[in-house]
Amino acid sequence: MTHHHSSSSRRVFVKSLSAGLAAGAAIGGFHSSTAAFGTEKKSLGFALVGLGNLSTHQIAPGLQKTKRCHLAGIVTGTPEKESLWAQKYQLGSQHIYNYDNFDKIVGDDAIDVVYVVLPNSMHEEFTVRAAKAGKHVLCEKPMANSAAECQRMIAACESASRQLAIGYRCQFEPHHLACIDMLRQKELGSIKAIQAGFGFSIGDPKQWRLRGAMAGGGALMDVGLYALQACRYLSNEEPISVTAQETKTDAAKFAEVDESITWAMNFPSGLVAHCSTTYSQNGMNHVHVETERGFVKLGPAFSYTGIQADSSKGPIHLQPIDQFATEMDAFAVSIVENRRSIVSGEEGLRDLRIIEAIYRSAREGKTISLA
Ligand code: NAD
Repeated sequence: MTHHHSSSSRRVFVKSLSAGLAAGAAIGGFHSSTAAFGTEKKSLGFALVGLGNLSTHQIAPGLQKTKRCHLAGIVTGTPEKESLWAQKYQLGSQHIYNYDNFDKIVGDDAIDVVYVVLPNSMHEEFTVRAAKAGKHVLCEKPMANSAAECQRMIAACESASRQLAIGYRCQFEPHHLACIDMLRQKELGSIKAIQAGFGFSIGDPKQWRLRGAMAGGGALMDVGLYALQACRYLSNEEPISVTAQETKTDAAKFAEVDESITWAMNFPSGLVAHCSTTYSQNGMNHVHVETERGFVKLGPAFSYTGIQADSSKGPIHLQPIDQFATEMDAFAVSIVENRRSIVSGEEGLRDLRIIEAIYRSAREGKTISLA
């Protein structure tokens, strides 16, 4: 994807970031001013933990496009990756760690932020160890495998006075922010209904995403989470109950995790959102919001690139951004300004509580109250 530097794209970016901060403040229930980049020039050093697909193909390239961050270290369990990454990104050996000696990062002043990009079951351990080493933590989604793990991560970062944020990249994406803005302004009246879905056909049956202990769940934890998040930040409401159903077509492949789930969420205003997620079908990637006087929709909604938005007032055309670069720059601003991220650990915890209720609803065959 190309990176645009025209003044009009910058205007859209700044406007979108402000809208996102305002939206996040509303979700998080705390006040935040609009983006005040100020004259602070400090660039924060990031260490990536786990050099798999996401780190290699999205986050490390994204770091090269940031304005306020740079790659300063790596933490890997695969010795062959050390020299490859050291060469490619000009990293000194003193900034290269493995899972055993990771705690020595406490003495590495080049590293301000640890970005946890490991299988979900390892998020808690590395977030807690990073916080104890005095580092701010950006942790990939889903935040952890349970709400209890999320609470321990929040507590560890709080007691170390470090910031914790979750890799919810779509909350920084311009089309999502434009939709949030239109809906907050009630340009088309209030929201009457939402449909959202995200899924894909998962390949290799041996991967960690299909192991219950590592992944914490299947399609819902991995990608259904995006649909869940979108319903929350587009409506600016928190669900009060959920009703879910699970479907399995391949009991062997999906023995440990969910293959497909559909769920409904009821919100305090009376709004109902219908969501879907799957590991057995490509192409599910949308959000439709019906309002009193029209609609707002996204599709493809949750991809890394090529996101499109439309509304009954006309299509929404915005310059694309690198979602990972934007997410990391936004976290750097939160840290430098000592202001809680819009995608804080608390935001991740809220989602895990809802996900736990969705699983319980599917298991017990009844509506689960979140009140
Ligand atoms: P991956 O399998 O490609 O990489 C995982 C890394 O963890 C590998 O380098 C692997 O060596 C390492 N690892 C350490 N211990 C392991 C173990 N016991 N089993 C398996 N791997 C082990 O996964 P990924 O796609 O890079 O995902 C990593 C995290 O990022 C996950 O939490 C995932 O949900 C999240 N993710 C987020 C996005 C997003 O858009 N924000 C996209 C993809 C993945």
